Amino acid sequence: MQITGKVALVTGAGQGIGKSIALKLASYGADVAVVDIDYDRVTQTAVEIQKMGRRSMAMKVDVTKGDKTDEMAEAVFKEFDDSIHILVNNAGITRDALIMRMKEDDWDAVINVNLKGVFNCTKSVVKYMTKQRWGRIINIASIVGLMGNAGQANYAASKAGVIGMTKTVAREVAGRNVTCNAVAPGFIETAMTDAMPEKRRDEMIAGIPLGRLGGPDDVAKATLFLASNAASYITGQVISVNGGLYM
Ligand code: NAP
Repeated sequence: MQITGKVALVTGAGQGIGKSIALKLASYGADVAVVDIDYDRVTQTAVEIQKMGRRSMAMKVDVTKGDKTDEMAEAVFKEFDDSIHILVNNAGITRDALIMRMKEDDWDAVINVNLKGVFNCTKSVVKYMTKQRWGRIINIASIVGLMGNAGQANYAASKAGVIGMTKTVAREVAGRNVTCNAVAPGFIETAMTDAMPEKRRDEMIAGIPLGRLGGPDDVAKATLFLASNAASYITGQVISVNGGLYM
């Protein structure tokens, strides 16, 4: 699963799953551009990649802004010798509430980052991939986009939308040797899930056949696989990384 010589771009790479994916791709030989809304955190990720002997660049990018994602893609393309091979759309947020109490702002914020952000970054990057006739787009969706979850109508809709977009983009760009797949994590230990009360957490673990929450590295390994030549005949698919919580 070596990806030596490939150039990757990972969004939301300042912490959690995105950071783990960025470091994993670098450890298998890729140069990795990392972006996040939090510049200090993502700069730290870039420093760690450079210490591994790979090239990296950190950028503060809000994925909800299409003009900014265009600038991001152009900057990566120029910095890394006119190439950009792997895009990981990972940036995401939650704003949970039962639908009767969910504010319109909470709906808009989640759809904007999780769904429009994937659209913006994909649109900005895919033109470079189709021209070079090689590309891997990997969207980080969620188990919640497949099965729903009370209190997450906005998040579930955004992630189900990402899955629909994944299949559509896969069909549009397959002829140019660009694949597009999604990874659907279950419950992964990150800042996003840290806020869960202990009792709820124990109940959650009791429902997971493999008996534990996942770690960011579990998601990173599936992403690496999809980015590698080992997955060259796989497109439009959703790989679940959930310990068997949803089958
Ligand atoms: P996280 O720890 O909160 O990391 C997400 C990163 O994205 C944060 O650094 C965040 O910055 C950044 N971000 C937020 N809005 C952004 C924007 N507009 N533009 C650029 N960057 C932005 O979350 P995570 O748990 O690693 O989740 C990563 C992805 O996996 C998300 O798409 C999430 O939906 C998905 N996922 C997570 C789980 C889980 O259990 N953790 C399960 C299924 C799917 P701020 O912290 O400043 O907002």
